[in-house]
Amino acid sequence: MNSSHLQQLHQSIHSLLDSHEACSCGRVHAVPIQQVLIDNGVIGQIPEVLDQLGLTGQCLLVADPITYEVVGEQVKHLLDQDGRTADTLILHPETGDQKVEPTEKATDEVVGQANGADYLIAVGSGTINDIVKLAATRLDVPYLVVGTAPSMTGYSSALAAMLRGPIKVALDAVPPVAIIADIDILKAAPPLMAAAGVSDLISRSLSSTDWKMSNILLDTYYCDVPVSVFTEADQYCRKHAAEIKKRQPAAIAVLTAALILAGMSITMAQTSSPGSGGGHMISHYWDMTAPARGRQRGSHGCQVGVGDLICFTLYEKLLPHLSQIDTDHILAHRYSRDQTNRIIIEHFTPLIGSEGAAALVEESTIKILDEETLRRALGIIKQDPSAFWAQLDPLFTSPAEVKQLLGTAGAPLTIHQLGIAPDELTNAYYYARYIRGRYTVLDLAYDLGLLEDLRDEVLADSGVHG
Ligand SMILES: [Zn+2]
Ligand SMILES: [Zn+2]
Repeated sequence: MNSSHLQQLHQSIHSLLDSHEACSCGRVHAVPIQQVLIDNGVIGQIPEVLDQLGLTGQCLLVADPITYEVVGEQVKHLLDQDGRTADTLILHPETGDQKVEPTEKATDEVVGQANGADYLIAVGSGTINDIVKLAATRLDVPYLVVGTAPSMTGYSSALAAMLRGPIKVALDAVPPVAIIADIDILKAAPPLMAAAGVSDLISRSLSSTDWKMSNILLDTYYCDVPVSVFTEADQYCRKHAAEIKKRQPAAIAVLTAALILAGMSITMAQTSSPGSGGGHMISHYWDMTAPARGRQRGSHGCQVGVGDLICFTLYEKLLPHLSQIDTDHILAHRYSRDQTNRIIIEHFTPLIGSEGAAALVEESTIKILDEETLRRALGIIKQDPSAFWAQLDPLFTSPAEVKQLLGTAGAPLTIHQLGIAPDELTNAYYYARYIRGRYTVLDLAYDLGLLEDLRDEVLADSGVHG
């Protein structure tokens, strides 16, 4: 284990704390997080951190039954011992669910129980952190998060991934003022959660490729600065995939630091684009359709890993076709806007209801390109396919390398491991692109007239069938 990797990640995190950088991209890259503690036993420092942040008065601690048992009770005890007044809210899964879901109802429960609280403490990982992040934003109070698993990049991001009815949305929210990542606790999380963290982190490679591709073809916003932050996090994580699987404490610390640094890049970008590309859409598709298919929603990171394998493979399969684009042929054979809307309604209504399907029609309008925009986009690729790819290649990772990394970290590589049926794989491949108004490789493949043609090859070669 190379401890200098951890030190370098620490340094990068600390250089970004409480930062404001006006960038040539026109945005201010700001990280409002004040403190990040990643080490063994840091849980005991919570009272000190609260003092340093000047947080006094009433606190509401939010956990789920598991995270309360793992560490929530200990945090409550620490607060009591320190003479602080803290109420506890334990969120329970809704009837039929095995775990707490990031719903408006759960957020309302936190807001309703806050009762004038001066600050909140979230004890948990993805879902609890997102719920409390959104509740704290709505209450306009600061919150701290005590992490329980190195499973996703959301600890430090300015977004809350929520379910709005059946639809998965990313809502703007204020990141925590402090992140307490006690490695003694994080290393004890189920192994699959660390594997999910590795998947969510490596996913930045795909998301950034999609983000840059959309910028080149459609002139959407892009900036290198958040990408360089994520790249550093990703590179260190990749070096330790095998030790992460063995849950060596130092490797879990590297993963945790890398996840926090990567989440900061989302906060800096002020958009989820650098963190949420085609593989995330596939995962969101499976989340949204889980109730209709009688499935429990799976692990975010693990689903993303499989979705990414599909999308990385799709990029690779598109490459040889970039020099043979027949724009007139493509334009003559693509669906009209009305046909597309009908396809969305027909596919999604039985799965998420007519209101949800109508919302997706609205959401995806932006990327049903008109003829002029499509001609311009395809023209950019046709003019010099190698130059086009040369801009994406530094962000891209080959599907073979991704598969190897995910396998080393112990992450699922097939839909079978995720409990996803074969027809749900095909459906996600075709329809996931309609659930967010963001342009990804799934859209590029469609706009090149190749999404359908490449399906069998992509799904077979990605290995996700198992
Ligand atoms: Zn910038
Ligand atoms: Zn993610």
